[in-house]
Amino acid sequence: MSINSCNHPSNDVFSVPARVSRESRPDKTVVNVRGIMVGGTDVVIIAGPCAVESSEQLYETAKAVMAGGARILRGGAFKPRSSPYNFQGLGEEGLRILKDISSRTGLPVVTEVMDTRQIEVVSEYADILQVGSRNMHNYPLLKEVGMQQKPVLLKRGMMATIEEFLLAAEYILNQGNEQVILCERGIRTFETSTRNTLDLSAVPMLKHLCHLPVIVDPSHGTGLNWMVPAMSKAAVAAGADGLIMEVHYHPDEALCDGHQSLRPDEFFQLMTDLKKIALAIGRNISLPEPSLV
Ligand code: PEP
Ligand code: MN
Repeated sequence: MSINSCNHPSNDVFSVPARVSRESRPDKTVVNVRGIMVGGTDVVIIAGPCAVESSEQLYETAKAVMAGGARILRGGAFKPRSSPYNFQGLGEEGLRILKDISSRTGLPVVTEVMDTRQIEVVSEYADILQVGSRNMHNYPLLKEVGMQQKPVLLKRGMMATIEEFLLAAEYILNQGNEQVILCERGIRTFETSTRNTLDLSAVPMLKHLCHLPVIVDPSHGTGLNWMVPAMSKAAVAAGADGLIMEVHYHPDEALCDGHQSLRPDEFFQLMTDLKKIALAIGRNISLPEPSLV
């Protein structure tokens, strides 16, 4: 398919892969995560710690983000860390904690699968399989998650073009799994003041080119907790179908990514602000009763 849909020949930069292209499915894909619709009218908020640290930590955080309006819980059990000496995640114990907190709160959970050898065990516990930025080009992993019956959260590679991102999603769809959520999480540029450069232009571009839901990760996208609210609001205004955010009760003590994690009180405030933006553009964020604005 040509991406040129509005008579600007200069827009015609590459061919959109067949299965992800909007032409292949004029109705947008809505991914159903245990009854939570990603890609529908509601903007879906996913929140939780970067890493599962303990059962108490995840339970307290889950209750807080749920009260703030999050519909899905995040938490890494297998963590891709730049240094082999940093906390690598609790592994299978982390998965058990995720499942336990999921059944106690009712929140579906998303967690990363880093290797084809982990798919079986992660699928036992998680509602969404996350393929992280570092693995967007891991084609055996993409094919393998494509054979699962679970939604996949595919994060954009930090050096990936939009075309490469869509081709990675195509790998998954090609194996039969069409429940794919794309996630813009920032790309590497010459800029060093932020952890990554959050490419919000990817949101309208991806939605223009393909039928899959698109969410934004403002935590990894900026690396700075004070910047997360501004970029979250901008992401919703740009048409994102959801956000995935890191939240921690004690960011200073977090075992991973504390500097980009919001405290629950900051998360609450942000959610009420985000709802106003969602309503202004004809969408919604369903907040629990006490937080209704
Ligand atoms: C994460 O979400 O925990 C993560 C490691 O993200 P990314 O793959 O975008 O770096
Ligand atoms: Mn993180």
